[in-house]
Amino acid sequence: MRLRNIAGSREVIAESKFVIPEDILDQCPGTWQEKFEKKQPLYIEIGMGKGKFIHTMAKEHPEINFVGIEKFSSVLLRAIQKMEQEELPNLRFIRMDAEEITKVFAKGEVDRIYLNFSDPWPKDRHAKRRLPSKEFLKRYDEILVEGGQIEFKTDNRDLFDFAVEELPESVFEAKVLTYDLHNDAVLSEGNIMTEYEEKFSAIGNPICKYILVRK
Ligand code: SAM
Repeated sequence: MRLRNIAGSREVIAESKFVIPEDILDQCPGTWQEKFEKKQPLYIEIGMGKGKFIHTMAKEHPEINFVGIEKFSSVLLRAIQKMEQEELPNLRFIRMDAEEITKVFAKGEVDRIYLNFSDPWPKDRHAKRRLPSKEFLKRYDEILVEGGQIEFKTDNRDLFDFAVEELPESVFEAKVLTYDLHNDAVLSEGNIMTEYEEKFSAIGNPICKYILVRK
């Protein structure tokens, strides 16, 4: 997935009208609605990869504004290419490490956060880097509107168990939780598969999911 060395990806990103330039990200808190044609709820996906999920979501939900966040230029490039093939007015991208997310969105500016198949960082000493860790949940608490929610999907049972164990130390609780999304008739309805979800469900891995709200 990393595709780290695609020549020219940084240049393409710097020139893309779909990407918010990195050098103005610190001026963005409180201004996200101005970056879209319509003022409407703002949903973000952190670690969007090649962007299949968020592109499909944005297409199916023109009444929502979406921002896709990805750390690596060479991966973001793939999401930009999808937008070049099918441009959507309600989707924009950021290349950044989500550790800086509270510097880019204002308090209560985001209505929903999606985490899909986040990197597991299996070593204990890297636990803070896991996107559903209590450290990240604190950041999400800062930027999420009252009544906002976090949706997390993964096939990695260890990462999901870790994510669930982090909840008591956070301000969030699971309003929905399943260890087999695709066999849950209610929760699987309207489910948009990510690239990783397609790959891992095809080899029989069950998909775990929770939806968090504040306690
Ligand atoms: N969400 C996609 C999917 O489900 O197909 C991609 C999953 S991939 C395993 C995880 C992605 O998250 C990678 O593209 C990685 O570069 C990105 N990522 C990991 N940590 C990140 C961070 N701290 N900030 C932004 N992106 C991150």
